[in-house]
Amino acid sequence: MAYKFKCINCGDISYSAAPLELQKFPLCEKCGGTVLRVQPPMKLGEILIALGIMSEQDLKRALEVQEKMTEHLVIGRLLIKLNLIGRNELERALQIQRDMLSGAQVQ
Ligand SMILES: [Zn+2]
Repeated sequence: MAYKFKCINCGDISYSAAPLELQKFPLCEKCGGTVLRVQPPMKLGEILIALGIMSEQDLKRALEVQEKMTEHLVIGRLLIKLNLIGRNELERALQIQRDMLSGAQVQ
């Protein structure tokens, strides 16, 4: 199966059959911008890490907290509650996630 990637800067689409770990967050060959995975779709946490908004450790910590909670809180809200991200950063990541899923150009 091939992985599909898209540059969030220039919108360039690329494909790779390389294992996910090797192609995690490659840079755009055309503009050097951040390239995100379109297929299979990235989770919100992965997008936040790729954008440099939070670290993998932050996400791991949040997922551990989420597991222990009796009331389920969506990851975005939980990250804000834990002060790991801001509201604007969440909005930006959600916008990118929507654009990735719809295949539209990311602004
Ligand atoms: Zn680019």
